[in-house]
Amino acid sequence: MKHIYWFHEITKKNLSIAGGKGADLGEMVKAKFPVPPGYIISSDTYFEFIDKLQLREKISKILEDLDVNDSARLQEVSKEVQDLIKGAKVPKKLADEFEEAYDELTESLGEAPLVAVRSSATAEDLPDASFAGQQATFLNITRHNLVEAVLDCWASLFTARAIFYRVQQKFDHMKVGIAVVIQKMIQSESSGVMFTKHPTGESDAIIIEAVFGLGEGIVSGMYTPDHFEIDPTTWSITNKEISSQPRMIHLNKKEGIKELEVSPEKQATQKIADEKVIELAKLGKKIEKHYAWPQDIEWAFEKGKMYIVQSRAVTTIPKERKRHEDEAMVKMMKPTLKGLGASPGIADGPVMIIKDTTEIDKVKNGDVLVTGMTNPDMVPAMKRAAAIVTDEGGMTSHAAIVSRELGIPAIVGTKNATKTLKTGEKITVDGKRGMVYKGEKKNLLINNVPKEAEKEATVTSWIPTATKIMVNLATPSEAERIANKDVDGVGLLRAEFIVADIGIHPKEAIATGKKDEFVEKLATDVTKIVEAFWPRPVIYRSFDFKTNEYKSLKGGEKYEHHENNPMMGYRGAMRAVNDPEVFDIEIKMLKKIRNEHGFKNLWLMMPFIRTIEEIRAIKETLKKEGLLGDRDFKFFVMAEVPSVALMIDEFAKEVDGFSIGSNDLTQLTLGADRDNENLASTFDERDPAVLKSLKMIITGAKRNGCYVSICGQAPSVYPEIVEHLVRWGIDSVSVNPDVIERTRKIVEQTEMKVLLENTRKSE
Ligand code: PEP
Ligand code: MG
Repeated sequence: MKHIYWFHEITKKNLSIAGGKGADLGEMVKAKFPVPPGYIISSDTYFEFIDKLQLREKISKILEDLDVNDSARLQEVSKEVQDLIKGAKVPKKLADEFEEAYDELTESLGEAPLVAVRSSATAEDLPDASFAGQQATFLNITRHNLVEAVLDCWASLFTARAIFYRVQQKFDHMKVGIAVVIQKMIQSESSGVMFTKHPTGESDAIIIEAVFGLGEGIVSGMYTPDHFEIDPTTWSITNKEISSQPRMIHLNKKEGIKELEVSPEKQATQKIADEKVIELAKLGKKIEKHYAWPQDIEWAFEKGKMYIVQSRAVTTIPKERKRHEDEAMVKMMKPTLKGLGASPGIADGPVMIIKDTTEIDKVKNGDVLVTGMTNPDMVPAMKRAAAIVTDEGGMTSHAAIVSRELGIPAIVGTKNATKTLKTGEKITVDGKRGMVYKGEKKNLLINNVPKEAEKEATVTSWIPTATKIMVNLATPSEAERIANKDVDGVGLLRAEFIVADIGIHPKEAIATGKKDEFVEKLATDVTKIVEAFWPRPVIYRSFDFKTNEYKSLKGGEKYEHHENNPMMGYRGAMRAVNDPEVFDIEIKMLKKIRNEHGFKNLWLMMPFIRTIEEIRAIKETLKKEGLLGDRDFKFFVMAEVPSVALMIDEFAKEVDGFSIGSNDLTQLTLGADRDNENLASTFDERDPAVLKSLKMIITGAKRNGCYVSICGQAPSVYPEIVEHLVRWGIDSVSVNPDVIERTRKIVEQTEMKVLLENTRKSE
């Protein structure tokens, strides 16, 4: 039996040996397209492996009588089978063969390559075997972990989802095989995408987009690529736009994938030379001809050599990729305005420019709200808007936070949206990439963007994780919907939005005899959230308006002084200490909901704690009011001023738990105003100084037996931070509603990894 096949030995007929992906690669090599070289470990090898080690019977036995709707059991069984495979020893002769093939690849390339190891499922009579087997990919693999990666691929045939799917579809688990593709990874100096036909069909031009480094930079919308349009009859470039690229994604053997600075002299230069653009376009047409259909191609240059990494037909789009394709098509249009993509999604509508809160009534259902910067008072108008575009603000600005929570596409920091756009004109907003296009969506797209209902992935199986996943929520009207998700509670209930809805400054309410009414209104809205999530905890955060925001509430002018720097001004817990009468509104609300309505799942968190004295003063009040003595009550503080990180041992003795406000913590650690769009590239939660602070807080809290969570935007915006948080020992991660499922998956994977690493260490 043959175990190893080189790409050129395979054709599209060899599905049962090489699986769909492997057969496709063979076909491309046969057509002489420059695909990165590699080989395939046949599916027979997998069957031989499970038979030789007598795993077939064991696996069948474990899977026997499994009720896949029992998701906890499904997870357990999946883990058991995967552990069985991963723990097995590949027979030496086989392992040697895999490594010898790698050595041969090394020899032909003149150096040991990093390879991608991918599963490529096969099955008789299965129209869509890839799904039955699911897809696993392991990147940056070298000779020393090659065999392990192959085992991981084989094990991936038994993820919970794959098992679930096969049972649902009545496929025999033991008949689905798996080939493994091993392919050189391209360490590209530039790369990108190409559409061999204009995606909107408006012309026959070939479109090429290019960035420095790896193509992920384009796909994820992180960088604005160079844009080229090529006329395939004259082979001339008819349109060219060069964009400056400050950072790039780079791959190297030591560190894997990493984001690097592009040197200042290089940033604004063309990513690939004109003649390469033409060369690529010509190759694109050849590939299109081979497949007899327009193609969406991923390409790369390494040491000047061109590679085709992937090619797929533009119109034969599987359902689950449809949205991605729609985005790709919009992406190809020329934007009229750019900013920071703050809340993903694509929406269109007529522009409504508003100056300030006094004009919010002008915003009608389906308008695109355009303004300088939003504030909490604008939430009712934001809810009506199809999309939001602002001049100012960074990724943690109010507009960004609220629109993510509401699930409305938003772009912040465009600098001049209010000047460039005109009220009434129709625009399309791509909130992921931060692009505004002229015209309606339907004129920009071939396919319609999926309806709202389709956008929300339904959760089919809930994953239990040791680390809790909480949600940031402030809009009571969304509570029921979000409580239905796979979420362990509300990690941050920002009171400001509810108060903005009430619309009056609390001191004005007190002065005009409306304090009870204020308490009642606040309690009604908070109860909606607490009820929807019961018995899961809801952490209510005390008012954290800044003076400028307080000022815009009714009567606010009377009570608030002008401050040059409200972000570092009279805000947070300090106000609760100095204005006990206002704090009393919140105390009354808490007692009402907890004692009268019996919702003991409502806890309190104080914002912007600067000193221990503030905590002590607040605790005095809570004790007097009987809240602190209550067994079910928990008292949290935000860890968002660096003093808390520096003195974590002292602070931890005073509280039940912390929640990290990474927005303020980043601002104060880096000295970068979070609302200033000119500092957007400096304001970065991944900065080592910020990560160090996060680690100090988490490990310090745990050292003192204190609960610790995070509710800033960091894990919602940068999923890679989640792994760090889990490794440092965080108890829960509170994220925006749109990323609950994604975060849960990362947490699950990290916990598994940590467990595995610990088991290996102790072996
Ligand atoms: C934070 O600072 O990270 C936080 C969650 O609070 P806010 O964004 O409301 O200041
Ligand atoms: Mg904060």
